[in-house]
Amino acid sequence: MSPSVSLRVSDSDSTACARCLEIKSRSDLDRMLWCEGCCESARSRSSSQSWIVGFIVAVILSVWIYLYIQPSDLVIGGWIGTVLAAFYVSARVAREVLYAVKRINNRATDQAVPPRQDSH
Ligand SMILES: [Zn+2]
Repeated sequence: MSPSVSLRVSDSDSTACARCLEIKSRSDLDRMLWCEGCCESARSRSSSQSWIVGFIVAVILSVWIYLYIQPSDLVIGGWIGTVLAAFYVSARVAREVLYAVKRINNRATDQAVPPRQDSH
């Protein structure tokens, strides 16, 4: 009669999501046993964190260009474009990497939210 028993569903079509432990239909989980909502939240978290990474890369690159290349006013626009491109590309790469790391380092219940709040 323990509530945790309810997580073990004998029905083979239903499995607990590896992240939020909500019981989902097997077809709603991906190969890592993550439900759609968890994939979405991991993706959006990775996305917001990736902009920070991109920003840091852009700042470091700007400092490096400023100190070592010392562009003249004539070509500064090109360097600004380079920094913006580096910002964008590194943010995109960081997003994929952060997402992959989240997937690999998944610790069950790490960010688990109780499946049922007493909203009813
Ligand atoms: Zn989930």
